[in-house]
Amino acid sequence: MTDHDPGVRFNERDNVDFAIIGSGAAGGVLARELSRAGFHVVVLEQGPYRTASDFSHDELRVFVQGEMTHHPSWNDPQTHRQSSRDKAQAVNGIPPALYSRTVGGASVHFSGNYWRMRPIDFKERSLLGSIAGTGFSDWPISYEELEPYYTKAEWEIGVSGAPGPFDAPRSKGYPLPPMPIKSSGVLLEKGARKLGLNPQPAPVAILSKPYRGRPPCGHCGFCMGFGCEMNAKSSTLVTMLPEAEATGRCEIRPLSTVFRIATNKAGRVSEVQYLDKDGQQHAQKAKAVILAANGAETPRLLLMSESSANPDGLANGSGLVGKYLMGNGHSVNHAYFEHELNEWKSIQVTRIVLDFYEADTGRGFYGGGGIDARPLVNGSPLMHALTIGGGGPMPLRWGKAFKDEVLYGFNHHVGLLNSTTSLPVESNNITLDPELKDDQGRPAMRMTYRDHDDDLAMMKFLQDKSEEILSAAGAVKYWREPVEPQPFLAHLLGTCRMGDDPATSVVDRFHRSHEIPNLFICDGSSLVSSGRGQPTLTIQALAFRAAEHIARFARNGEI
Ligand SMILES: Cc1cc2nc3c(=O)[nH]c(=O)nc-3n(C[C@H](O)[C@H](O)[C@H](O)COP(=O)(O)OP(=O)(O)OC[C@H]3O[C@@H](n4cnc5c(N)ncnc54)[C@H](O)[C@@H]3O)c2cc1C
Ligand code: SF4
Repeated sequence: MTDHDPGVRFNERDNVDFAIIGSGAAGGVLARELSRAGFHVVVLEQGPYRTASDFSHDELRVFVQGEMTHHPSWNDPQTHRQSSRDKAQAVNGIPPALYSRTVGGASVHFSGNYWRMRPIDFKERSLLGSIAGTGFSDWPISYEELEPYYTKAEWEIGVSGAPGPFDAPRSKGYPLPPMPIKSSGVLLEKGARKLGLNPQPAPVAILSKPYRGRPPCGHCGFCMGFGCEMNAKSSTLVTMLPEAEATGRCEIRPLSTVFRIATNKAGRVSEVQYLDKDGQQHAQKAKAVILAANGAETPRLLLMSESSANPDGLANGSGLVGKYLMGNGHSVNHAYFEHELNEWKSIQVTRIVLDFYEADTGRGFYGGGGIDARPLVNGSPLMHALTIGGGGPMPLRWGKAFKDEVLYGFNHHVGLLNSTTSLPVESNNITLDPELKDDQGRPAMRMTYRDHDDDLAMMKFLQDKSEEILSAAGAVKYWREPVEPQPFLAHLLGTCRMGDDPATSVVDRFHRSHEIPNLFICDGSSLVSSGRGQPTLTIQALAFRAAEHIARFARNGEI
């Protein structure tokens, strides 16, 4: 990995305007917007500063060993249980909270699906009523209030797409035309249209044409889970962060793992304490702190920052820090088609079906979602053999029949991924494991999570619909993966929810923590409801909006 020149370096004793924790989807946006607004910003990121030349197609290293997501050498274990009655177990392999530790965060390895929420997502509780056993709530803001920032995110980040028949109202079209359709998209369109559904091009944060000095996608096929070697995936690594650094007012400090946010006698946050790559302890002073470490690490850090003044953790007067964890439900259908499909090329998803987005009380359970068509494991032959190849209609893992199955399946397979709502359940949460610690002495993250029964019902409902689509498209064979409570979440949402009432939320409508005026929280944890999947555009729209308000507060001396 090449050493990165940070441009500007701040002294730790400099009381910078903002310390931002996390350089991912939200942190990158906040860093750019606040440094462009004239403020001095230090971004503390636990991962290294990888760039395009550090990314590879090494399936073993990246996918199986989890180079960016869960490499054992980090020794930062997580534990998981389904209920508080169970003892949480340490997890080897894919961690319960799955995200990339790298400058740019999970926006570096994400698949780029970039959906807006719809107006209904922000006020569904008022429209549908309460749901027993959940904290199903309206947002304090509306779609209309967020719309300008959705547009801003799409244009500033670089998104390819075309409006679909059910899209929420938009003030501007997409900056780039949709990506070329893949075989999976053609087949999804064919099956869906036969059933009278309305397939549409998938909006993706990936360039279909050159944009702002970056080249278009080279269709390499190693997209989900991988960093882009062409800089065509619109991660914050190649969009927001270089522009933040170009201001000369923003330092990205990689390999800096924050373990505590300290407060002073006045009850305000005063510095961020972190460990460098050699385990040496440092503290960066700041006038205000913005926590953007994602929906799992943000609550962990707030809980780790307890003190005699804040015995339950920072900003936790409501007791809700870490609670109402949501992940979006996911269920999977597989099919083989007669012809070779070459699905190993290009990005994951080019067509989606959003006909089942809205909840329908006639179904007997709450939920909504979308269906997309994709190869499921990129163009990765190894992952295909390890997962789909042996788990399909021939559940084999060895021998000639298995090899034949993998050889045939690799180029005849299409997956449909169904992404759904997740209800906010208070007992689904992030807490600190009482026993296990990481190698830096921090308490391990403990996830308690079991999908609500309605979420599981919705996942099955969409599987039925997907099966109809695959059959109508002419699949020669189709099967589905069992719907079970999800052992890991790639969408980490809701754990510091936004709201007007300090008793039922952690941050206000401007992402300021209810209790500490110079502590802001803005990332996946701010979401009040889960949407129907693909939360990153909403996370980034919220970050653009938050940055505008935070800059105004700072200018007016209101922090
Ligand atoms: C394989 C995969 C595919 C995905 N595909 C999609 C998709 O197609 N569409 C979609 O919308 N979403 C997708 N997602 C989810 C998406 O990536 C996340 O929702 C989004 O990146 C979350 O943004 P965030 O800002 O909340 O956190 P992140 O992007 O996770 O950023 C948090 C950053 O904080 C850093 N950090 C954490 N703790 C500390 C600490 N203590 N000290 C210093 N730094 C810290 C992390 O290293 C990270 O860089 C995918 C996720 C995965 C895993
Ligand atoms: S498929 Fe395109 S966007 Fe994705 S990693 Fe390859 S070149 Fe980049």
